[in-house]
Amino acid sequence: MSGLYVHIPFCESKCGYCDFYSIKRYKDSDFASDFIKSVVDEITQKAYLFKNQTVDTIYFGGGTPSILPLEQLERIYKAIADNYNLSSSLSPLSSLECTLEINPEHATDEYFSDLQRLGFVNRLSTGFQSMTDDGLKYLGRRHTVDDNLRYLRLCDKYGFSNYSVDYIFGYEILTADEIERAFQFLIGEGVPHISAYSLGIEDNTPFMLKLRKGQIHKMDDDFYLSQFLQIHNLLESNGYNHYEISNYSLPGCHSRHNSNYWESVPYLGFGPSAHSFYDGTRSWNARKLSDYQQQISNHELYAEHEILSEDDLFNEYIMLRLRTRQGIDIEYLTLHFAKYVSHFYKILRRKEMLGFFNVNDRYVNLNLNGIFISDHIISEFFV
Ligand code: SF4
Repeated sequence: MSGLYVHIPFCESKCGYCDFYSIKRYKDSDFASDFIKSVVDEITQKAYLFKNQTVDTIYFGGGTPSILPLEQLERIYKAIADNYNLSSSLSPLSSLECTLEINPEHATDEYFSDLQRLGFVNRLSTGFQSMTDDGLKYLGRRHTVDDNLRYLRLCDKYGFSNYSVDYIFGYEILTADEIERAFQFLIGEGVPHISAYSLGIEDNTPFMLKLRKGQIHKMDDDFYLSQFLQIHNLLESNGYNHYEISNYSLPGCHSRHNSNYWESVPYLGFGPSAHSFYDGTRSWNARKLSDYQQQISNHELYAEHEILSEDDLFNEYIMLRLRTRQGIDIEYLTLHFAKYVSHFYKILRRKEMLGFFNVNDRYVNLNLNGIFISDHIISEFFV
């Protein structure tokens, strides 16, 4: 099993909270087709790395992949299909999962009809982020609640039953009533997968500037916790499985692509700033588009890379697995990281760790109190 990620670095504008690298020049068609050419070249150049792998997930993310014409994304897909062994299993659980991120404002009849006709995408992901126009405006999004509603109608009309919706909580104008209304609606619509993220205010974002000017305010931990618990309880009591810190799914609808990351499955990332992980090596493409294009025309596999030591691999296992609801598999830990087992239990038994874990014979995972401060807890285990 392995995965491929394609990063499309174009956005129409910058959302208030976003610190991803993105650029606006996509409307220049030469510029966009030069970019596609670089990605296709990269896909071809790296194929030998995965000659013994079967690819079972592909993810088109960004940025905003849906601002490019679908035919350009199809060119990328065809380059992948021509150069990699794609899973052809008939089982829906192991056949190829190909996800495309679509912004709600791009959801039109024409777009969905083209998607259906081209046929290479079978899972969609979109950022609703809020179910009120005031919330969307606060977050600096370009779309409206009507766009969200149209997106849901189109998924239904064109038979895209496997899709995910992102929602942001933890900001000053979001109330408990609004959360209740939003989630009752999404649950009632049968949205199969929901990712709920707390708002972070990162450096170099429009929000950080506003925070410094006193135009917005950061909320305290109790506020975040109460909104997280409200969302969690609404989703879990309605049949959603909380399978990762921010991710909830109806049975069989989890993101296989992201789950592969948490299982340390090898993956290749294409496009500026994309990461790859294979053969114990983590690597990064150049972040800036022009540097990335130079990297590919020089046939360089990466801009930077790191060969993970045994300690790194242990830290990585802890970090990825404690994000998941299943958690650390003690049998796996003993088999693959035997020399770290006593260290792991020493930290786990510390007084300050009491109350943050569920522990049984086979698995150790974070409970709801632990999930809320997971970054802090996870780093305690690092060697
Ligand atoms: S949140 Fe998405 S759409 Fe908004 S700027 Fe970031 S990448 Fe672009």
